[in-house]
Amino acid sequence: MRPDLPTSAMRRRCGCSLTRKHRPPGTGVGCLRGGPPFGDAANVERASLCPRNEAVVEAAYTFRRAARLVIDGDTAAAQAVVASLDDEVLRSHWFTVGAAPAALGVLPRTLPPAGAPLVPKTPGAGVIAAVFARDGWRCRWCTTPVIARHALRRMHLVFPVLFPRGDRDADRHALLLAAGATPDHVLPRSCGGTHQPDNLVTACWPCQFARGEYTMEQLGLMDPRLRPPVIDDWDGVAWFRD
Ligand SMILES: [Zn+2]
Repeated sequence: MRPDLPTSAMRRRCGCSLTRKHRPPGTGVGCLRGGPPFGDAANVERASLCPRNEAVVEAAYTFRRAARLVIDGDTAAAQAVVASLDDEVLRSHWFTVGAAPAALGVLPRTLPPAGAPLVPKTPGAGVIAAVFARDGWRCRWCTTPVIARHALRRMHLVFPVLFPRGDRDADRHALLLAAGATPDHVLPRSCGGTHQPDNLVTACWPCQFARGEYTMEQLGLMDPRLRPPVIDDWDGVAWFRD
């Protein structure tokens, strides 16, 4: 870590956005609550922090093929297809992306506007399902086809060893990390963002995780809602339920 960057311990002590003392040089003063774009990131507009990885895309389609085989009762063939998923490649993608928040750790955490009411952490299931369907089950940031959480869970129930679903990254099949569907708040909840569908987009877990609580402006991201969703035959394997 560069010596001029704040450490997590400093941020914990600060308890708010970074103080003048804790900030990297030349990044302004005062609380960033509602403040301007931060640092060089704001000068580069990009669609996503995590470029689409074709190995992840291929793995999502492979997963769907396995799910169809399970539905058809051909468990042995399904097992062979699941076994063909390259866990190492997927895991590498996740950890490459997983390094992003550390690299972005120079950014101050955005705080909600003073007095903003906190909303429940997770949108309702109906809202999430509608958002995923609206977005064609693709990450609106990087366009990766994402997979319904319940489909991943069912595959785990069918192949508990081959397709693990533990609590830690090391204990999960990497496809869960690379292509699990998640609702993402465009304006982060911690900034007062709501669960309204127009503030939600479908995201892959890497895009969600990499952005964290930062706003698009802070990271120089283009608004994904300005790009139409990709609607094709991808269905998130949402039909593969317990
Ligand atoms: Zn993504």
